[in-house]
Amino acid sequence: MPNEGPLSGRSVIVAGAGLAGLTAVVELQKNGARVTLLEARDRVGGRVWTRREGFAEGQHAEAGGDLIDSDQDAIRRLAKDLGLTLSPILRGGFAFVGQGPRGPVSKPASTAGDVWSELAKVCEPWVRAYRLNERRWEGPIARMLADRSVANWLDDIRADRALRARLNGLRGFFLAGPEELSLLALVDQLATESSALDRVYRIKGGNDRIATALARKLREPVQLGTRLLAVRQRRGKVLVTVRGSEGQGQIVADSLVIALPVTMVRSLIFNPPMPSQQRKAIRELRYGPATKTLLQFDRRFWRRRGRPLAYGTDLPIGAIWDGNEEQLGRTGILTLLAGGLASRDTKTRITQQGPAGLAAALKWLGAGTPALLASRVVHWEDDPFVRGGYAVFQTGYDPEQRAWLARPHGRVLFAGEHTSLRWQGYMNGAVESGWRAAAEMQALLRRSRSSLSV
Ligand SMILES: Cc1cc2nc3c(=O)[nH]c(=O)nc-3n(C[C@H](O)[C@H](O)[C@H](O)COP(=O)(O)OP(=O)(O)OC[C@H]3O[C@@H](n4cnc5c(N)ncnc54)[C@H](O)[C@@H]3O)c2cc1C
Repeated sequence: MPNEGPLSGRSVIVAGAGLAGLTAVVELQKNGARVTLLEARDRVGGRVWTRREGFAEGQHAEAGGDLIDSDQDAIRRLAKDLGLTLSPILRGGFAFVGQGPRGPVSKPASTAGDVWSELAKVCEPWVRAYRLNERRWEGPIARMLADRSVANWLDDIRADRALRARLNGLRGFFLAGPEELSLLALVDQLATESSALDRVYRIKGGNDRIATALARKLREPVQLGTRLLAVRQRRGKVLVTVRGSEGQGQIVADSLVIALPVTMVRSLIFNPPMPSQQRKAIRELRYGPATKTLLQFDRRFWRRRGRPLAYGTDLPIGAIWDGNEEQLGRTGILTLLAGGLASRDTKTRITQQGPAGLAAALKWLGAGTPALLASRVVHWEDDPFVRGGYAVFQTGYDPEQRAWLARPHGRVLFAGEHTSLRWQGYMNGAVESGWRAAAEMQALLRRSRSSLSV
C-alpha cells in the first residue's frame, strides 16, 4: 500500500545515517515519501557513538556527542518521543584547572557558566556590536570579527595569563585554540550563551539509543557500508552513484538530502556543479581535531565531597569529566576530550605511553593508585567518514559563506550539524537540520511540479 501524505509517490535518497539523516528520513516517511538511506559505516549514529565493549560491570561511555543542555529542545523532545530517559549529570558544572608553576592548579569555585559570563564581560563591546547586527554573518561587523583571531584580540586587550589560559581551556569546546578560532565564533557563542549549562543530561543506556530507535522506525532498512560518490541532476530526477560491498551502482530518485559532514561533501562529484560560492564555502570550512579517551578505573577516585565532576583545562590532556555517573557500579569511567592542538598532544602521549600515560597525568584529581581496567580512544580527525570533531569557524573564513552551507542545489538539500545556525557543533543542531531538510523537501517538491529547472 502506498504511503499517505503530501510526499506520497515521491522518492527521496538520504545520505548519512547520523542524527541529521535519521531525523530527516523519519519525517520524510511520515509525509509519505519512499526513502532510501545510505550510510558508509557499518553502524548508524555517526558522531554519536556509545562504546560498551570491554568495559567492566556492563558500563558504557560516549566516544562522540555526550552532553545535552537543558535548552536543547529538539533533541530532548525527540528523546522523549522515542520513549528514552534523560539522566541529569555533572550538576556542579565545569571547574577550570590551569597549569601552575608546580603542576595543575584546581579552581573548583568557577563553573562553566562563570567562564562564559566572565568572557562576555571582557568582550562586551563586540558582543554588543554583534547583537546590534542582529547576529547576522554579513556586513562590516561580522567581517571584522571573522578576520581576527581570538589570540589577536587577547593581544589587543593585553589579556593576562589567567584569561589566556581560560580561552586555551575552551579548546575542548571549540576544538580550536585562540590562534585558530575567529573572534566571530567566540562572540557568537557569548551572544547566545544561556544559563542552561548548569543542567546537563545524557540518554540513559547510551546516546546511541536515539539513533538506533530512529533506525527502527524506518520502513526500508538502512543501506550500511554504502558510500555516496557522485550526484547527477537531470530532467527532474537525481541520479546518485554509490559504492557498496557489491561494487559500484546507481540509484534514481526525485530528490536527495546530503546529511554528511562537509569534509565528506567536498569529495563528491556534482553534475551540474554547485555554484562557485557554495563550493568555496564547503571547501574552506575546517573541522577541529578531537581525541576522546574513555578510561575505566576500579573506583571513582575523582568523586569527593565539594569537588566538581568536570574540568575544563589548558593542560595537554584537554577537558575531563565523569563519563558515566548515572550508571551503577564501583568502577567508573572518566572522559577526556582533547580538542585542537591538545588532540595532537594526547595522541603523542598515547603513542609513547599508552592510555596508562593519560591516567598517570590525572594525579592532581586525587588518583592515588587506582587500577586502569579498560580504555577506548577515538581520534576523530583520523576517522575516514568525518576527518575531525565538528565544524570550526576559523579566522579568515568569510562569514557570508556560511549561508551557502545550508542552501539547496536544485533538488539536492543539505543537513548536518554544520548547517545549523543556533546549534552548530551539537546533536541538537543535527536533529534540527534533519527536520528542516524534511520540511524544505516538502516545499521543494510542491514547487517543482512547475518551476524547478533541474
Ligand atoms: C568528540 C566529539 C564530542 C562531541 N560532544 C558533543 C556533546 O557533548 N554534545 C553535543 O550536543 N554534541 C557533541 N558533539 C557533536 C555531535 O556529535 C554532532 O554535532 C552530531 O552527532 C552530528 O550529526 P550529523 O548527523 O550532522 O553528522 P554525523 O553524525 O557525522 O553523520 C553523518 C553520517 O554520514 C556518514 N557518511 C560520511 N560520508 C559518507 C558518504 N560518502 N556516503 C554515505 N555516508 C557517509 C558518516 O559515516 C555518518 O554516519 C561531539 C562530537 C564529537 C566528535
